[in-house]
Amino acid sequence: MVSDCLLNTLANAEDYDPHSMAVEKARDFIHRTLGPVCGVECVPLKEAIGRTLALDILAPLNVPGYDNSAMDGYALRFSDVIADGETCLKRIGESFAGRPFCGMVGIGECVRIFTGAIMPDGADTVVMQEKTEEMNGVVCIAANSVAAAGQNRRFAGEDIVRGEIVFTRGQRIGAPELGILASLGIAEIFVYRRLRVAFFSTGDELTPLGAPLAAGQIYDSNRYSLYGMLRQLEVTPIDLGAVPDTPDALDRMLTDAAQNADVVISIGGVSVGDADFVKEVLKKRGKILSWKLAMKPGKPLAYGVLGNAHFFGLPGNPVSAMVTFYQFVREALLILQGQIVPSPTLWRATLTASVKKSAGRTEFQRGVCENRGGQMVVTPAPEQGSGILSSMTRANCFIVLQRETGKLSAGETVDIQMFTGLVE
Ligand code: AMP
Ligand code: MG
Repeated sequence: MVSDCLLNTLANAEDYDPHSMAVEKARDFIHRTLGPVCGVECVPLKEAIGRTLALDILAPLNVPGYDNSAMDGYALRFSDVIADGETCLKRIGESFAGRPFCGMVGIGECVRIFTGAIMPDGADTVVMQEKTEEMNGVVCIAANSVAAAGQNRRFAGEDIVRGEIVFTRGQRIGAPELGILASLGIAEIFVYRRLRVAFFSTGDELTPLGAPLAAGQIYDSNRYSLYGMLRQLEVTPIDLGAVPDTPDALDRMLTDAAQNADVVISIGGVSVGDADFVKEVLKKRGKILSWKLAMKPGKPLAYGVLGNAHFFGLPGNPVSAMVTFYQFVREALLILQGQIVPSPTLWRATLTASVKKSAGRTEFQRGVCENRGGQMVVTPAPEQGSGILSSMTRANCFIVLQRETGKLSAGETVDIQMFTGLVE
């Protein structure tokens, strides 16, 4: 349910201007006003990959659960080790992973031990096998092979202590989290339910794949890049196809979409052309809060509410659609899905070529960054047009040119945002 409070928060802000919003302000608005959609579900562990935890996880046990060996070698008493000379000990048994030694290691004794096997009583240290020689049940350890008591021994609870909070609500479950939960014996967990995201494209020029192109027609490519971006986020994408540029068709599409989804995303038709009806219809059916960001590419990005659904209107130019999605909509969807989303990580790199830029808006140029002799350098894509989608496939980062920056020369440093973990 989209609350009135959310609607009013932005509209009442002192410097609220729907015609031009700074990138930072739009991002701040998303973080301040959006929260998780209601609804959690309990899923088997494997199905939790990529999802967001809905409850804190308390460790029901220690990991590791008992002191064990970090090496294949011999478990011994450190006090038996001769400081600068060879130490010889009597081998009295074995401790395998899953098959412990039952007994006590006494003075002058040792136990053959394998990685992960429980430390036998009496022993406090493990010497690695490579430093030893065994003959007729006697193990000789080379001088200076054991530096300290407790060496090569893993302690119970050294990774996770029983009762501690292992993960907090809002954490995304990735591969390592799955492993930790499994190590705690947790077979199912509560995650936020998947967000239902309906999307459609607008335009009389759009032709579906498989049909021949008439003069002036193009294939509806944005709907595919948007589908790809949504799939990365573990939402349920609902592809509603394309609508022609007529207010009636758009009205029907928006109304239906809002009834069946938590979020509705449209592509195209949000700029100022005669056939750009999205704003008009949205004003009638819902509430539109912003439609112009001080950024390039992607100036027209609409945000509003439509019944109980959040609405995002992406610009139609293919690069603008992707950039606005990655810079704003992605974060918004993650938050609606319950995730605690950190601010984007920016790195610094040196420009290999000059860049054109006018002050007053943030730019997200596409670039290729690389390590040249230990220095991070970045080369802007030669074509920065908002219709040049290949600039996205050839790049590996956004060059983030902050609002007040003007044109820059080769050798100057800039912020970059890596595609890794973002554009996949
Ligand atoms: P619009 O925002 O509707 O004015 O569209 C801006 C530009 O993006 C125009 O050149 C459109 O043809 C193009 N465009 C809009 N929607 C799509 C789409 N779904 N796939 C590919 N190009 C599109
Ligand atoms: Mg259009």
